[in-house]
Amino acid sequence: MADCTNCGTWNPDDKDVCWRCQTKLPRIEEKPKRKPRVLFGLPAWTWIIVVLLFLAPMFSQCLSAPAG
Ligand SMILES: [Zn+2]
Repeated sequence: MADCTNCGTWNPDDKDVCWRCQTKLPRIEEKPKRKPRVLFGLPAWTWIIVVLLFLAPMFSQCLSAPAG
């Protein structure tokens, strides 16, 4: 993942030094994961699906209703 800062050679993640020139490789810091938006104990995207599931039959009823 980390390219050597000295010679630019690619090195595996588990390597502390460059396999080519033995230069110390910079440590990759793990970024903290963002917390997902939660509404009433469920992720926001689940509510979108629930709303769509409820609205879908309503729309289909409106469309299939006999006109006149
Ligand atoms: Zn190197």
